[in-house]
Amino acid sequence: MSRPYYIAGNWKMHKTRAEAAELVKELSARLKDGKHRYLVAPGFTLLETVAALVRDSNIRLGAQNMAAEEQGAHTGEVSVLQLKDIGVRTVILGHSERRHVYREDDALINRKVRLALRHGLEVILCVGELLEEREAGRAEAVCETQTVRGLEGVSAAELPNIVIAYEPVWAIGTGKTATPEDADAIHAWIRKVIGRLYGAAAAENIIIQYGGSVKAENAAQLMAKENIDGALVGGAALKADTFVPIAMFA
Ligand code: PEP
Repeated sequence: MSRPYYIAGNWKMHKTRAEAAELVKELSARLKDGKHRYLVAPGFTLLETVAALVRDSNIRLGAQNMAAEEQGAHTGEVSVLQLKDIGVRTVILGHSERRHVYREDDALINRKVRLALRHGLEVILCVGELLEEREAGRAEAVCETQTVRGLEGVSAAELPNIVIAYEPVWAIGTGKTATPEDADAIHAWIRKVIGRLYGAAAAENIIIQYGGSVKAENAAQLMAKENIDGALVGGAALKADTFVPIAMFA
């Protein structure tokens, strides 16, 4: 299997510039010989500070969201042009907090996905079911719908710039992790959906991260699964001592 492992840290609404600088300096130093792909996604006001510090490192800079429009009268939003200007190369879209707290739907997320791709950004598209959806046996269907709708209008040529993050909502920030087997089953399902949409080679190549209370203690077991190609990490990404062991999992 040729897919690289890809470990991403989502800092959410944490840290000041000084704290962000301290963390990213430590990450650059400790991950410099790391074998996998790495990304950090700090809050918007931290991006410029972190951009300068990751420039010569093996850590990509990501944003946690962006507007669905290129520019214009959109008070409080951040545009793709502004992100690119600062050195952002990846954007996380459709995170469960965006979907469920800020009511972003698949149509809006899809507009953001297409805009980001048109500007050459890599997109980490998050999908995942709520606890009640899992209990009702609908986890696969929910992830399929979010994947299909999120990728509407995305061409096969653009697909290499898509990473999917499977994040069961009930596992995010709760300390509950999907078992490696359960997570792998959903990853396999998503891969099948990609195969149906884009063909077998695309399905084989797409990176699917797992997210939801990933920590040093469970990272290696999750990553050992055939269809799990990395992690999107929240809480444990806020300290080098908790992120580095995940990023350097053996
Ligand atoms: C996330 O926010 O994407 C996430 C997975 O958070 P945590 O690792 O804290 O569950």
